[in-house]
This record gives sequence, structure tokens and C-alpha cells, in this order.
Amino acid sequence: MFRTRGSKTEKTERETPREVELSEDEWRERLSPERYRVLRHAGTEPAFSGEYVNCHLDGTYACAACGAELFSSDAKFDSGSGWPSFTEPAVANAVELHSDKSFGMVRTEVLCRACGSHLGHVFDDGPRPTGQRYCINSLSLTIDEAQS
Ligand code: FE
Repeated sequence: MFRTRGSKTEKTERETPREVELSEDEWRERLSPERYRVLRHAGTEPAFSGEYVNCHLDGTYACAACGAELFSSDAKFDSGSGWPSFTEPAVANAVELHSDKSFGMVRTEVLCRACGSHLGHVFDDGPRPTGQRYCINSLSLTIDEAQS
């Protein structure tokens, strides 16, 4: 189900609170200014600027805000978009999707379910089998490298 971000009813619509709930000040303390802007204020890093765009390491990408596991490197592909791209989340309910009508576009925003932080957007022009392209900011992620 889709919910519009920022609607006055959003908080009361949630059946359960976020696993991680911090105040604005606490988020600001915890995160670098760049990560704070993207994660907590739905910012977008410039294309091709992020550290994971061309990353081919094996591992799991976790939320840079709360550490929740979000995407596996197995689902990462080179989209040419300039942002890390994945065909699916590591666990379906690790993310939450919201309709985003900002900037005169209708897009689907991807949030971390555990903490509500902004990750990026998902588009339906991805490769098979899912056909999905999760277009995620590097600044929203940290990789936990697989031990070999
Ligand atoms: Fe999170």
C-alpha cells in the first residue's frame, strides 16, 4: 500500500512505531551532513558521485542511518544511471514504498522500514527477473563485506 509522505495522518496510520526513532537533533549528531540531507530530508546525491556506484564487492548493503540490512550485492547491477542499482531488497519488508509526487513527477520513494530514512526510488525498468530498478543513494548505504 502506498502512502503519501508528509501527510498529516502518516504517523497515526502506522500500526507500529519505527524500530529506530530518533529526534532531528539525534539524527544530525549521528550522521554526516551529507548523509543527513539524503537520509532525513530525501536528498539525492549527484549522479556518479557515490562510493558504491561501481562497487562490485560481495556483501550486504545496510542502512547508513540505522544499520538494517537492505540489499545484497547479488541483486546489484550496473544500470548506467550513476546510482547503485538493485533488482530487489535483501528482505522484502526491509523497505517501505511511498508515492512521491515531488518535482512534478510521480515516483515511488524507497524508505528504510526500520528507521524511515530515505534511500532512493524504485522504477519498473529494471532487468529480469524482477523488472525492478531500486535506484539508491550511496550515502544511504554502508556495505558489510562478506567474509571469504
Ligand atoms: Fe534505517
